[in-house]
Amino acid sequence: MPSTEMVYGYRHVPFITLSELKPRVWITLSDCNFKCRGCFSFAREPIGEPMSVEQLINLVKKSSMGYYGDTPLEEAVITGGEPTLNRHYLVDLVSQLKEFIGGVVLDTNGYLLDDAYLTELIDAGLTEVMFDLKVWDEKLHEWYTGYSNKRILANIRNAYGKIKLVVNTVYIPGIVDESEIESIAKFLSEIDKKGAIDYRINRYNMNLSHEKISRNPYPEEIEHAYSIVAKYMKNSVIGKSCVRERKIEVKRGWITVFPDGTLKRRTLADYREENKRKKMKSAYLFGW
Ligand code: SF4
Repeated sequence: MPSTEMVYGYRHVPFITLSELKPRVWITLSDCNFKCRGCFSFAREPIGEPMSVEQLINLVKKSSMGYYGDTPLEEAVITGGEPTLNRHYLVDLVSQLKEFIGGVVLDTNGYLLDDAYLTELIDAGLTEVMFDLKVWDEKLHEWYTGYSNKRILANIRNAYGKIKLVVNTVYIPGIVDESEIESIAKFLSEIDKKGAIDYRINRYNMNLSHEKISRNPYPEEIEHAYSIVAKYMKNSVIGKSCVRERKIEVKRGWITVFPDGTLKRRTLADYREENKRKKMKSAYLFGW
């Protein structure tokens, strides 16, 4: 029988991240089909080490055992880059994570996540999907990402009622601002009569963006955008860089685990600084 490495191949992994607050892991799979002009992630390109699912699971288990003293974790968030690029790899990863982790969450641009793919992931144990709905206007979406948003809208509509859903939009002054947010909120409220979708507005960060297409939004702009969302949706969530840990007031840090197993504690400031440096390096290597 061929090994899963031969069948499912590899994904590039720059690191995984452990939470200091709860037994929770973020798995970053680099490379992306989109080329968002305002992308904050240096993982848009295939950086890091190529890893099979087995190698990645071993890394998660070993580092969790070393740091938390146990492997059963509350939650794993699979993020990127774009995690859906290799379907067999992702389905296998979810199913192996589910064996020792309570909840498995997928953070995706949603383009490839059609009904058959989502069903396979749910059967494998996926518990939540976080869709990025970047832009409402189709032409603007094409300009921003390189792709139409039609498939993403259809995929969100299809996913509703099948799994817990979170939808994220980055507020970009003058590009994705109030009228865009209002159209997205209307769309979500039309498919979600029960108030089951969490909608989050994130802030554009001109210092971390691949292209400087706008300025940083003012707090009043974000507040106003949320007041518009509240007209349509009951459950919108106030966005922070990591909403899952937003209620904690202590100075937070995260444990970065590299593919060779080395650990490094990093604060939010460290992440921002390193993200900036990695972006400069990627810009040099990939020519953007
Ligand atoms: S923002 Fe997300 S979907 Fe867009 S290029 Fe970056 S990683 Fe890909």
